[in-house]
Amino acid sequence: MVMHLPSPTHSPIPSTDAPVGRADACLAALNAQQRRAVEYGCGAEPEPGPLLVIAGAGTGKTDTLAHRVAHLVCRGADPQRILLLTFSRRAAVEMERRAARILGRMLGGSPQRPPAIGWSGTFHGVGARLLRCYAERIGLHASFTIHDRGDAEDLLAIVRHDLGLSATRNRFPAKATCLAIYSRVVNSEAPLDAVLATAFPWCRPWEAQLRELFAAYVAAKQAQNVLDYDDLLLYWSQMMAEPSLAAEVGARFDHVLVDEYQDTNRLQSTILRALKPDGRGLTVVGDDAQSIYSFRAATVRNILDFPHQFALPARVVTLERNYRSTQPILDASNAVIGLASERHAKNLWTERKSAAKPQLVTVRDEVDQARCVAEAILEHRETGIALKAQAVLFRSSSHSAQLELELARRDIPFVKFGGLKFLEAAHVKDLLSVLRWAENPRNRLAGFRAVRLLPGIGPATAARLLDAMDRAPDPLAAMAAFDPPPAAAVDWPALVALCGRLRREAASWPGDIDDACRWYEPHLERIYDDAVARLGDLAQLTRIAATYVSRERFLTEVTLDPPGATSAEAGVPELDDDYLILSTIHSAKGQEWKTVHVLNVVDGCIPSDMSTGTTEEIEEERRLLYVAMTRARDHLRLLVPQRFYVHQQAAHGDRHVYASRSRFIPEAVRQHFETCAWPVAVSAAAPAGARDPAREVDVAARIRALWR
Ligand code: ATP
Ligand code: MG
Repeated sequence: MVMHLPSPTHSPIPSTDAPVGRADACLAALNAQQRRAVEYGCGAEPEPGPLLVIAGAGTGKTDTLAHRVAHLVCRGADPQRILLLTFSRRAAVEMERRAARILGRMLGGSPQRPPAIGWSGTFHGVGARLLRCYAERIGLHASFTIHDRGDAEDLLAIVRHDLGLSATRNRFPAKATCLAIYSRVVNSEAPLDAVLATAFPWCRPWEAQLRELFAAYVAAKQAQNVLDYDDLLLYWSQMMAEPSLAAEVGARFDHVLVDEYQDTNRLQSTILRALKPDGRGLTVVGDDAQSIYSFRAATVRNILDFPHQFALPARVVTLERNYRSTQPILDASNAVIGLASERHAKNLWTERKSAAKPQLVTVRDEVDQARCVAEAILEHRETGIALKAQAVLFRSSSHSAQLELELARRDIPFVKFGGLKFLEAAHVKDLLSVLRWAENPRNRLAGFRAVRLLPGIGPATAARLLDAMDRAPDPLAAMAAFDPPPAAAVDWPALVALCGRLRREAASWPGDIDDACRWYEPHLERIYDDAVARLGDLAQLTRIAATYVSRERFLTEVTLDPPGATSAEAGVPELDDDYLILSTIHSAKGQEWKTVHVLNVVDGCIPSDMSTGTTEEIEEERRLLYVAMTRARDHLRLLVPQRFYVHQQAAHGDRHVYASRSRFIPEAVRQHFETCAWPVAVSAAAPAGARDPAREVDVAARIRALWR
């Protein structure tokens, strides 16, 4: 990634007092600790060792890093020899913008010739670039292909199949699980048996086979000149294990700066130590209270052990003033993290006074939650807060499903980070296509997708069937008379029968969707490797469907979000448009918004019931809530549905359960919130998810009315 910075005039080192004076003026806005970090090493210290800035949320760590980059360049550092490492590409772009703006101000004018910071991006991005530079010297072809996680899973699945492991009687771990294990071994630099014991105990019986699989996977990648995501770090670190190469690579950079250091893994720390063994020129910033990526092998030990890992001792700077949030938001956040079993709290303070406490809003269920949030967002927009300055955060990507529909219904544009939009997930589209086709057997697009869910039916057969149905006065009769290819013969009658049932007048809604799900489940299990998670999504879709009075109404509403768009571009409005931010908490780190809503602050969601195993996992969930809350500048609302829906093993079925407020907000913490209910009187009597025609909007009828 190339970072454009304004040019420091002709000479890199300011030769007059004027730029120095301007640079000083730019630093004047910083507090004393921030300034100490920004200017560290630029003064009289004979041997400045590494620098660690460890501080709570919103204290200006990222801002300090950006100022430091600008200051270094202003003081003569060669921007080509600076390496800036961030957690995501988005964060890298934001950091570039900030640093360029500051340097522009320091230099006091528009640049004539903007030099670029040569090295800025994620560890993976920078790793890829370095590996291409050194490929020939480490036995790689410079033209190597990079596999993303999806490609990596697919290649693993092929290798697994070739080894005969997918066909074993006891179910061998799914390809996504295999990749997660492999990835954990690589990134944590831990042996396979230890990783299995701590993180994947149910896969322990397969240790020998997994070892065989991973060896074959590595051989396949090397034979195909392919590197996966983890390889970008692994090859980089292996390259740095060779002292002469390490010295050469390290010498390319005078300054190495890393943001969000608490979420790096062992491999990344190994790379940094090999780059700068004495720590000179190295700056890392982070917050141990915000470490939320241990499931990807990140370890908070990296930041805690940093001060003593280099030949030179580290300078540690802490920051305590928060510039982001109002005092009541900070009080509530401090109270949440204050209950952590390891004491993370750094007692942040702010000068941003406010009388308004954050709100803890009880809603009946997820349907009301979606309505409540949508209304609040519109109200805030009325008061002049742009949609872009508002965010809705949630623990898992699927938690926003109901809200996405509500936003579509109200025509509120949004962009979602951290997971596909619910309606774009392939399996959700599959099921909707079946329903759409039943609703309208002449809908070729839906039919084309639905019929190809059967094994043995490809595009040519599908087209032949749809042509026959188009020509016939009764499309369903034509379908029943169709002669499928032999490979589809076994499954064909069930599809014909399903379509027949769904078309009958007596068909009931939402019973239809149950019927379609029952038909689809075995196909889903055959088509997708990670069927369990996808079945959970379908359960969610079923629940949402039950809140509409008819199939037609349901399909009309979900179609408001155009299904034709690809996932990459769907719903991302023009850049200058205003749109709401939806994000998983994991993808929200480092960011801030004026208004933040956090969905499903109930046990089972935060902490997630997938993560309640160990104390460490629970503590990480607590930090997640802390990260979510500390994103808010002016308004913070936590939503607590009284009931939500859980997807259980098939034997028990799905059911609504009474939810309880997250254990991270016990009474002692609750006092930092204003508690309220929405709508004002919450009725406990109505069953969750019950249809309430009086509160629904008949969009389909309105659209039809336009043409009368
Ligand atoms: P996080 O832990 O969430 O990553 P952070 O510590 O990196 O937060 P920043 O994002 O750098 O914090 O800063 C938070 C907000 O405070 C930003 O809006 C930033 O512009 C502002 N800020 C930081 N330092 C100052 C300062 N000295 N004066 C005024 N505003 C500041
Ligand atoms: Mg930050």
